Order: sequence, then structure tokens, then C-alpha cells
Amino acid sequence: MSIREELNQWMLENLTGEFEQIRWRGGPGDEDSSPELRRAWEQKFGEAGWIGLQWPKEYGGRDLSLMDFVEFNEEYARHGGPGRAGHIGETLMAPTILAYGTQAQKERFLPGIKNGTELWCQGYSEPNAGSDLSNIKTKARLVDGHWVIDGQKIWTSLAHESDWIFVLARAEEGTKGRDGLVFLLVELDQPGIDIRPIHQISGTAEFNEVYFTEAKTEADNIIGEVGEGWKIAMALLGFERGASTLGQQMMFQNELNLIIKTANENGRANDPSLRRRIAEAHAGLKVMRFNALRMLNGTQDGSTSKEGYISKIFWATWHRDLGELAMDVIGADAEIIEDELSPMQKLFLFSRADTIYAGTNQIQRNIISERALGMPKEPRGNTNG
Ligand SMILES: Cc1cc2nc3c(=O)[nH]c(=O)nc-3n(C[C@H](O)[C@H](O)[C@H](O)COP(=O)(O)OP(=O)(O)OC[C@H]3O[C@@H](n4cnc5c(N)ncnc54)[C@H](O)[C@@H]3O)c2cc1C
Repeated sequence: MSIREELNQWMLENLTGEFEQIRWRGGPGDEDSSPELRRAWEQKFGEAGWIGLQWPKEYGGRDLSLMDFVEFNEEYARHGGPGRAGHIGETLMAPTILAYGTQAQKERFLPGIKNGTELWCQGYSEPNAGSDLSNIKTKARLVDGHWVIDGQKIWTSLAHESDWIFVLARAEEGTKGRDGLVFLLVELDQPGIDIRPIHQISGTAEFNEVYFTEAKTEADNIIGEVGEGWKIAMALLGFERGASTLGQQMMFQNELNLIIKTANENGRANDPSLRRRIAEAHAGLKVMRFNALRMLNGTQDGSTSKEGYISKIFWATWHRDLGELAMDVIGADAEIIEDELSPMQKLFLFSRADTIYAGTNQIQRNIISERALGMPKEPRGNTNG
């Protein structure tokens, strides 16, 4: 049986009962929908062996080929599978642990991700360290067998639903820029951590401020060595721009289908200019799929090849435009909010963030010119070291 048939069968049997209410829910802009139920779904998904399919067999994976992984994600989206509560752990943390973690770290952290019992979030950005990430000010010092962490992270997606956070912090006093950083794994449920949700224009609070006041984690919870934090952080971003986006991209088809259905129902499908934009959106989605296959080909670990550098800017811009198309298809009614935002209104509002997170469009252009095309590097200020 192919992976597609296998998953189809399982979804038919299991996305039922109480889980019916989270079908099609929990995607971008809708993360606050039934978090408890989606956590239960994550565990059910993990128990069935669907998490970590691309991992090596010795860690419970199936060494799934890229094509099978694409089909798996397509099938999940076709069923309206709920937004995955554990996606940061599975697609960012796990590949990083597999590539750079110690044996003990693999044994400690991979099972929680695989079973859907431990959820992760990403502690990179700070108020003055976004695009200029190397301006990190959060500090970590070793005291009596523990890292003690002080500082603030911001825009931390899903911190309020997570169990662990990976934190980029400065461990060596007096260092600047990319030097002296550490990549730490920190449990969130402790007195030294304060999580404050930030409400977004979509009405939800998908991300948070996270304050560290003498927060602690064991000395062994460091990936790589002291001073290697930047290297590990960048490797993780490679996974973020690679296979991790596949699942998300597969959801785009469902959004486009909804737009087409609405346009057919309200007659706007007859408007030539909207028809052209719908056709362009369809073509863009195909381009995205082919590019995903091209960029991931040959990098079975899920990181990107050089061609992959265009991926983030392409899908982010496409999705932002899709949000605008959704509004134009609804027409003037798009400005009216009934009891709550409609799925297409949520799509529009949340898609404004796509060209910002995981590297803004401007930063993507810098990356393409410097890393893919080998053009001269952008001049940097003193803080970059
Ligand atoms: C929905 C959402 C979820 C997020 N989730 C997380 C998360 O889970 N964890 C996390 O750590 N972070 C997260 N972020 C933060 C995200 O990574 C940052 O917002 C992003 O890196 C931009 O940083 P900034 O907001 O500080 O903007 P800035 O870096 O201040 O940028 C402001 C503007 O200046 C432009 N700019 C900056 N530098 C340059 C340059 N060198 N050349 C040209 N233009 C430039 C930018 O493109 C942008 O338009 C999230 C953000 C959003 C919107």
C-alpha cells in the first residue's frame, strides 16, 4: 500500500468523533482553535506512527523518500487534517537534534516529539534582534551545573501552548554578533519564565513575549559547543526554509479551493480580472510544488539546496496575494465582520505576516544575492561583529 493510501485509510477511520470539529481548523491565523483537542490529535497522530516519518529507522522513523513525504502532506491536507500542534518540534527541532545533538539528547528529546507529547517553540527574535538576529542580548551563564538565562524573546509563536523552547543566547561576556552564542533547550514550565501573549490583528494571539529571569536548564541541554550557537541556529533555519514548509504549502490548495467555490457561488468567477488572478494563483501553486521537489531533491535531511533560496519569498508573496484575492472575491462584504472573522478574512489578515516571519522578503533578497548568486555582501554595522 502506498503512503497516500495508508494515510487515507487512517484519516477516514480516525478523523472522526470529537476530532471532526477540528477538521480544516488550526491553520495559519486559526491557531487558537481548540488547542487541547489539537494536542490530543497530535498524540493520536504520534501513537499511530505518523510523526517523524523522514527520520532514520533507528529513531522510529521510516526514512521516507521526499516524494512519499510530499504525497503524505497532500493527503493530510486533502482530508482537512487539523493544523499540527507539534510542527515546530517535528520539522525544526528534531532535524537539528538529529544532525547536531548528542546520543543522550536524541534519546531524551526525540521520543517526546515522535509521540506528540512534548511541543516546542522557537526563541530567536528579541526586540532589537529580528532581521539582525546576531544582535542577541539574552544572556546565559553556567552556575553549578545549570545554565541560568536572563533576557527577553518576542514574537515567539505558540509559546503559550508549548512545553520546551530552544533559545539562542549570549554566553560569553563581551562578545558581539555571531560570536559567543549558545543554543539551549529550556523547559517552559518554571518560575523563571513569564509568557505574555501578544494579540494580533486577526484577533488571535499566536505569538508571545517570553521573559527569562534566572530561568534554568541543565548544563547538558546545549546543542553544539559554547560559541557554536550561530552555526546551529542557521542550520535550523535551513530546515525552516526546507521540508518544514511542505505541510503548510499543501494547505494552500484548500484555501484556493475555498476562494474558487466562493467566486462560483457569488458570480465573481465571471469577472475576467478575478478569473485571471485565480488562474495565476493556481499556476503559482504548481510552481511551488515543483520548486519544493527541486530544492529538496538530493538533500534527504530536509534542508535546502541552493535553488531553495527562492522558496520562502515565492510562497510568502504568493500567499499574501492570495489573501488579497480572497478579499476581492468576497467584495464589499469583506469589510463586514459578523460574530467572528470568516476563514477568508482570517486568511487575509494572517497572510500579511507571511512576508515577515522566517526572514522578511527584503532579507530573502539579500540571502539570494549573497548566498545563491555570490554577489558582494551587504555592508554591516559594528553590532554584527
Ligand atoms: C507571525 C509571526 C510569527 C513569528 N514567530 C516567531 C517565532 O516563533 N520565533 C522567533 O524567534 N521569531 C518569530 N517571529 C519574528 C520574525 O522572525 C521577525 O519578525 C523577523 O525576523 C523580522 O524581524 P523584526 O520584526 O525585528 O523586523 P526588523 O528586522 O526590524 O525589520 C523591519 C523592516 O526592515 C527591513 N530590513 C531589516 N534589515 C534589513 C536589511 N539588512 N536589508 C533590507 N531590509 C531590511 C525588514 O525587511 C522589515 O521590512 C515571528 C514573526 C511573525 C510575524
